[in-house]
Amino acid sequence: MATPSSSDNLMETLVSLCKRRGIIYASSEIYGGLNGFFDYGPLGAELKRNIRNAWWQDMVHRRDDVVGLESSIIMHPKVWEASGHVAGFTDPLVDCKASKQRYRADQLFFAAVVVDGATIGYVSALESERTAEELQEKAEALKRKKAVQGALAPVAMKEFTEATPEQIPLIPSPATGEPGSLTPPRAFNMMFETHVGPMRDSSAVAYLRPETAQGMFVDFKNVIDTTRVKLPFGIAQIGKSFRNEITPRNFIFRSREFEQMEMEYFIHPDADWLACHEEWLKWCQDWLKSIGLPESHLSLFEHPKEKLAFYSRRTVDIMFKYPFGVQELWGIAARSDYDLQQHQKFSGVPQVWFDEATKAKIVPHVIEPAVGVDRILLAVLCAAYAEEDVKDEKGNVEKRTVLRLHPRIAPFKVAVLPLLKNKEQLTGRAKALYQKLKRRYNVSYDDGGAIGRRYRRQDEAGTPWCVTIDFDTIEKPGDTFTLRDRDTMQQTRITEAELFALLAEKVDNA
Ligand code: ATP
Repeated sequence: MATPSSSDNLMETLVSLCKRRGIIYASSEIYGGLNGFFDYGPLGAELKRNIRNAWWQDMVHRRDDVVGLESSIIMHPKVWEASGHVAGFTDPLVDCKASKQRYRADQLFFAAVVVDGATIGYVSALESERTAEELQEKAEALKRKKAVQGALAPVAMKEFTEATPEQIPLIPSPATGEPGSLTPPRAFNMMFETHVGPMRDSSAVAYLRPETAQGMFVDFKNVIDTTRVKLPFGIAQIGKSFRNEITPRNFIFRSREFEQMEMEYFIHPDADWLACHEEWLKWCQDWLKSIGLPESHLSLFEHPKEKLAFYSRRTVDIMFKYPFGVQELWGIAARSDYDLQQHQKFSGVPQVWFDEATKAKIVPHVIEPAVGVDRILLAVLCAAYAEEDVKDEKGNVEKRTVLRLHPRIAPFKVAVLPLLKNKEQLTGRAKALYQKLKRRYNVSYDDGGAIGRRYRRQDEAGTPWCVTIDFDTIEKPGDTFTLRDRDTMQQTRITEAELFALLAEKVDNA
């Protein structure tokens, strides 16, 4: 696991590694960037693609009961009325009139500062790993500032959504530290609006989808009518979603344009939905472990019954321990038949399945595992990053940075390194191997600099194996190369056939 001393350091280190190695850049950086938008560079694009492909392979290709879909990003605006997004896809927004900062009321916390039973003022802090401590420190500071004697009660932290109209003018803004500038929370719809066609009036309003899921519901009839699926079955989709988040933050964790991998699993209304929900919960956790996330960083959060959306029977989130706190990675929801019923009502088209056994038309229920690719990628980077002290060829201790990525998702599977750049026998053999590997895998070829430096470069890019074409390759029988393992740094000799067998085992069949 990563070694930088604090969690802030780890995030800073990762952000700068991502920039330096071409994994993630700020979007439109030459124009100063655009808050909540990111670009994936050459290594990041590979890593992201590999995560998507692994999910698609396991979710769709390797199962018999799930089919794929790619629906359009802009859909008929009625879709979002039926789904409830137009009316209810909102976050509580709070403005600070003094600083022009905006906050999500459920990410802004406050506490009364109580000395000897009397409230002497209020303190506020934004959601972080240290919110409670920060509020306590600010309470102590306020008591000192006001020179009030007596016993300070431990602060009782509350969400800004719980603030009463009398309290709101007394709560300081986190931006200015002064009370009086925060507005009461108001509902802010997070869908991005656009116009379709040349008219700019209200009849042309459409939305960039805030989730991919509705595509699966709207195409439910198409899929059952044009394929041979039988209940229970799933429809899976990977694609971009857009949310005008009030406070995009924590790098790619919460952005305004992101990618989702969602699957709607349709089941008979009489089926044991709880057992099915449990099965998917397990499947998702196993899948995250299979791509290298450590079990120690995963946990479950069961949404309390009273906070569930009215149509949800149960929602459990798989949480990941990010450097900035334990946060939602994957939500697994039992959504009843709400979505299909809504689309049936709004479109007038029956969203039914003909049950051969009972000869009845039924509206299936749904279990939905929904995850963000960018959140997985960030979790993968956090878990894979390590710094170690190692000895170089001369015995000097130096720092090595390594990304211990699972071979299945690593951007490069192998790096081919000729020992010397100017020895044609070495480079010729190296290029032949490189060309052959490249037909199947993304492979790096590097002939620049000392071999140790080249290993370090590959370690930092997460390449699981380096093969060095050296004098033994060309002078000794057997046509073997040095295989250097990223994690153990052990070197062994290997033939071309053995190398392909290793890749087949660790990459193709992983
Ligand atoms: P949150 O509570 O963190 O805003 P959510 O519960 O609204 O997330 P869902 O609507 O359940 O999220 O979306 C499913 C998944 O999509 C999430 O588990 C997450 O992995 C991903 N996701 C949602 N919003 C974002 C975002 N703004 N940026 C990146 N990924 C996101």
